[in-house]
Amino acid sequence: MKLLITHARIASEDSPALTEADLLVEDGRITRIGTGLEAPEGARTIDARGRIAMPGMFDAHVHFREPGFENKECIASGCAAAINGGVTGVVMMPNTRPAIDSPQIVAQVLESARRASPVRVLTAGCVTKGREGRELAAIDGMRALGVRMLTDDGDTTADAALLLHAMQYAGEFGMFFASHCEEPSLAGPRALNDGPTSYRLGIRGTPACAEEIIIDRDIRLARAAGAHLHIQHVSTRMGVETLRWWKQRGDVRVTAEAAPHHLLFTEDNIGDFDTAYKMNPPLRTRSDNEALIEGLIDGTIDLIATDHAPHTAFEKSLDFASAPNGVTGLETALVSLHDAFVSKQVFGWDLLVKRYSAEPRRLMCLAPARVAEGEPADFLLFDPSRDTTFDRGFMRSRSANTPFLGRTLRGSVDLVVLGNEVLLERDDA
Ligand SMILES: [Zn+2]
Repeated sequence: MKLLITHARIASEDSPALTEADLLVEDGRITRIGTGLEAPEGARTIDARGRIAMPGMFDAHVHFREPGFENKECIASGCAAAINGGVTGVVMMPNTRPAIDSPQIVAQVLESARRASPVRVLTAGCVTKGREGRELAAIDGMRALGVRMLTDDGDTTADAALLLHAMQYAGEFGMFFASHCEEPSLAGPRALNDGPTSYRLGIRGTPACAEEIIIDRDIRLARAAGAHLHIQHVSTRMGVETLRWWKQRGDVRVTAEAAPHHLLFTEDNIGDFDTAYKMNPPLRTRSDNEALIEGLIDGTIDLIATDHAPHTAFEKSLDFASAPNGVTGLETALVSLHDAFVSKQVFGWDLLVKRYSAEPRRLMCLAPARVAEGEPADFLLFDPSRDTTFDRGFMRSRSANTPFLGRTLRGSVDLVVLGNEVLLERDDA
């Protein structure tokens, strides 16, 4: 395949300025970048005037529900959703049924991913067998198949001694730990923040300190074990402050992620029991949003990850306390972050590319994708002046449990190129 893309404005993590240039893509690589490039014989030309070329996004926290819950999502539909949102690589969470806690299940999901899509699918493995927190999972066998991230996501590994033991053992082999931080004895029915909304609705909430306690506990365990710890979906101001304090000490390797919904929404959005805003960790307050945004800008939060968590419309139609936690995110993340932050100059494309493309790849020990000469083709074209309406027909996920359903936001992922394939080309672009 030969593709000449003319007059694209190129975004990178290194510079706030966009540089206009033409890109020539030949047989899966960006072979030339320059101005006034001629289309070689047999090349297709796309006029990208006004549009931005940037590396494919990478989402280090997705739930693809396979095996076990394919009515919500499967690896193929999850990958299709990723492409629709400009995401070319993902890390699956292991809270499937059976859980991804053994080399057999790891091999099965990786094979399924290989058959399903060219999207780069990695999987995390469980820390404990069945995520039950009682005995260690088959860590060594999973490592042999390339698993690097260990997590009991969905729950905290409550037994500190067991987690410390796992960290001492697996840390030596270059694996790292990702923590869902929630002190179990403080968790409500896992519905919402402990605050004005929980009092008004009469449902016991989960206080911010349930997260902050485990962020601090798990960093201390990682420090004792000499392991790398990654904190998942930070949702609280004091969680950010705790991370900042530990990062400034500099004697433990800790990274952290934040989800778009925790930057954009608060518990007030729940209104009268709207389950589209029910997720774990729950939505908190404006002050927490602001602290997370500051953390992304100053580097306390290393990366953005969506925690893409599909559930069926039926499940989400249950009453607020019974409906499952989670929102989808892959298809809406880039456009919603552009709409809320980049277009309003809260931060630039360089930060967004760093936090949602480069840093998540570095976390997984992959080279960041770059729009540069000689690099493998892994990029998208984004139109900042075109709107996207997130109706059901737009979605490629099997589920559409997102607060953005039916909403129109500024920005559009128009084209996705990965390797020798155009994975997405929006018809009306
Ligand atoms: Zn989680």
